[in-house]
Amino acid sequence: MIVVGLTGGIGSGKTTVLGMFEAKGITTYNADLEARKLMNTSAEIRTEIHTVFGSESYIGKELNRPYIASIVFADKEKLAALNAITHPRLHAHFKDFVKAATGAYIVYEAAILLESEGHKLCDYIITVTAATEKKINRIQLRDGMTVAEITARMNNQMSDTLRIAKSDFVIQNHTVLATQEQVNTLDVLLLDLSIAK
Ligand code: ATP
Repeated sequence: MIVVGLTGGIGSGKTTVLGMFEAKGITTYNADLEARKLMNTSAEIRTEIHTVFGSESYIGKELNRPYIASIVFADKEKLAALNAITHPRLHAHFKDFVKAATGAYIVYEAAILLESEGHKLCDYIITVTAATEKKINRIQLRDGMTVAEITARMNNQMSDTLRIAKSDFVIQNHTVLATQEQVNTLDVLLLDLSIAK
């Protein structure tokens, strides 16, 4: 089994592409979703987050996401502390998931794959890209954020140039049809690579 990381900037279409692999019967793992779940279910994570962020960080057993987000967005050291608590647990969870999985390859989607050491769990990396104005339009439609808010998030992320330099494959997410064709081509290639491994 080979592990294929899937990353890209905000609104590039990572989750859309992950869904295309899933529809082909490929095992998929959405790291952002699994991290959200773990922060609510892991007692270890809850205890450590309480220690660093105080009693307001959970409401009952649910992470107080707006509270935590407001702190880490303004404080890089607090963001690093949060990542130090969550990333190793998420990576352990993913490794267990891989052990239990079947199939030729697994696709692991993570927005910060290349920033979080997550790429070290992967045999190959795919970056999803789209034109900036397309990404902005799509996020506006999806989340109702302002252009200024979207641009601020984009400027806070790794550039596509660097992401692509660190990747093995690029999917250009323009039309859904063209993206589906790229996924089909990559699927054939990844099946071959998994056999060769
Ligand atoms: P984020 O980083 O914000 O979670 P993402 O990279 O996972 O985003 P998606 O959620 O897959 O991106 O896509 C962003 C939005 O754009 C979604 O509403 C999705 O339906 C839409 N979208 C994705 N690809 C296309 C496409 N090729 N044509 C039109 N709309 C698209």
